[in-house]
Amino acid sequence: MRSSIRLGKLFGIEIGLHYSWFLIALLITMSLGSQFQESHPEWGSNIIWALAVLTALLFFITLLAHEMSHALVARARGLTTKTITLFALGGVAQIEKEPEDAKTEFLVGIVGPLSSAVIGLVSLGIAWALGWRIPATPDTPLRAMFVWLGYINLTLAAFNMIPGYPLDGGRILRSILWVTSRDAVRATERAAAVGKVIALLFIALGIFRFFGGAGFGGLWIAFIGWFLLQAATASASSVALTAGLKGVRVSDVMTADCVMLDGNMNVEEFVESYLLRSGKRCFVVQQNGEVAGLVTPHEIKGLERPRWPYTTLSDIMRPLDQLHTVAPTTPVMEALETMGRDDVNQLPVVSGNHLDGIITRANVLQFLQTRAELGR
Ligand SMILES: [Zn+2]
Repeated sequence: MRSSIRLGKLFGIEIGLHYSWFLIALLITMSLGSQFQESHPEWGSNIIWALAVLTALLFFITLLAHEMSHALVARARGLTTKTITLFALGGVAQIEKEPEDAKTEFLVGIVGPLSSAVIGLVSLGIAWALGWRIPATPDTPLRAMFVWLGYINLTLAAFNMIPGYPLDGGRILRSILWVTSRDAVRATERAAAVGKVIALLFIALGIFRFFGGAGFGGLWIAFIGWFLLQAATASASSVALTAGLKGVRVSDVMTADCVMLDGNMNVEEFVESYLLRSGKRCFVVQQNGEVAGLVTPHEIKGLERPRWPYTTLSDIMRPLDQLHTVAPTTPVMEALETMGRDDVNQLPVVSGNHLDGIITRANVLQFLQTRAELGR
């Protein structure tokens, strides 16, 4: 998730705060403040607003604990998490790979709601120890804070147990379907289908409540539904991609027949004589007999046509030492992840000191299409 502020590291995991989180933090603080003001005006506005801010901060920490529990269990099962980002609708722990077995999926999924439930019960326990008794409205600031944190964390645990993939409950559902069907891809498809149905129900409920006069609350529910719908669709296709590319290596899809070009050639000659004629996609630029970089249609697009005769390939190429390289034996999924991180469409394939070819996103797409047409 881009456009987030880095807060630092915890257990070696980068913690980020997406800008949208500030909006929700403000909303929570405002609504807590006005809630306390209504029920206990005698506390005075200083205490009330300090309490609202403190409660919102503690809520932020409990959300972080929920995500951290996912990340730590994932780590114990051999999966690394680079970042945890908190945003308007909660948090995401970016676990680098999808779990490779159902047990890991189940454990990573269930520990989140469990953590929130434990935090919720402990908060209510503290409120109890401070003298609060169910069902009385808490009558001191501290009791009010712990009661609110207790209920919100129990609600969070319950919400996350909704079996809509990719919510935690959906992951748990997927792991169970995975065990019963022994087919990870079908389990994902079904869990994602349930996720989409639940998302649509959220949207319908939100619209219904909005027209029923619930105002912002209704829109909020619809928005959560819309978000879940996007997430279910995206994760289903990413899991299908991972499955489709399982065991496929860079050498299986790369373009190997590269054309070697001299770095002093101008762009016009390159376009006329090579790019438009050869039908090849891999053009390697050499300087002093050594491979120096790659040139693709993308680099040409950025250059105004009148300048073509006066610009050399060396001027516009992507230098090899600025690109990450992959080996022919690298899994294709890993190459795609590298392209995603670097925001490029192709990577040079290098073994030892030799350039074997390039791998492009188009290569991967073509491979998947061919496979699909052959019905595999
Ligand atoms: Zn979770």
